[in-house]
Amino acid sequence: MTLLEVTNLATGYGDLRAVWDVSVHAEPGRITALLGRNGAGKTTTLRAIAGLNPVQRGRITFDGDDLAAVPAHRRVARGISYLQEGKRIFGEQTVAENLLLGGYSLGRSRRRLEPELDTMYELFPVLRDKRGAPAASLSGGQQQMVALAQALMARPRLLLLDEPSGGLAPSVVAEVLARVDALRATGLAILLVEQAVDAALAVADHVTVIDVGRVVLDLPAADVEDPELIKNACMGTA
Ligand code: ATP
Repeated sequence: MTLLEVTNLATGYGDLRAVWDVSVHAEPGRITALLGRNGAGKTTTLRAIAGLNPVQRGRITFDGDDLAAVPAHRRVARGISYLQEGKRIFGEQTVAENLLLGGYSLGRSRRRLEPELDTMYELFPVLRDKRGAPAASLSGGQQQMVALAQALMARPRLLLLDEPSGGLAPSVVAEVLARVDALRATGLAILLVEQAVDAALAVADHVTVIDVGRVVLDLPAADVEDPELIKNACMGTA
């Protein structure tokens, strides 16, 4: 079943159009990689799905409902969680406190959220050991896992992930994406924006490549015969 269906989307900033015609979808238990060079319109597309940029043309449906009239905070409540690029966690707060903050957005109490911490520690075992430590004391990769777990505390059905590997060393990128890969088993639908093309292809079920705000490639990951073609389409600046 298609959970998220973006059809012929045009969106941008005020009157400015940055995305002209993007169609992309996400399904439960599947990872769709949304790839493209810098400035191609990946972040702008995610922002429109999250409700932060207007739909100027086309349609975004979630679970069959048109989201056009649904404000951003209601989309979170419906199950759309957006982890923005370079999202900062609260360095002085402990890991556990950071995770709890992710759940408060839905107005749930600490008592009701505490059991969910365990679920997060099962998904990210390293965070269990560090749960009482200030988040700033963790490594870059671990901090990214805190940000991921924080986004998951809102119990999303769809996770919009903008460059979770950003700023991390290559060996750590693989580690973070392995955790993203593992999330698939929870039935979550994931729309993953990545500059690390190889790492993204390694976990993706479906690949959509955009350029200058338009789709240029759209295929199941299993049908990608030559990753170099995808990499070439993602190099440089739009
Ligand atoms: P990157 O990997 O660099 O984040 P991207 O594919 O995510 O690239 P977007 O950030 O969506 O690209 O940018 C698409 C276009 O929208 C670019 O031309 C960019 O300059 C423009 N843009 C991005 N943010 C804004 C903004 N706040 N106001 C106006 N234009 C913007």
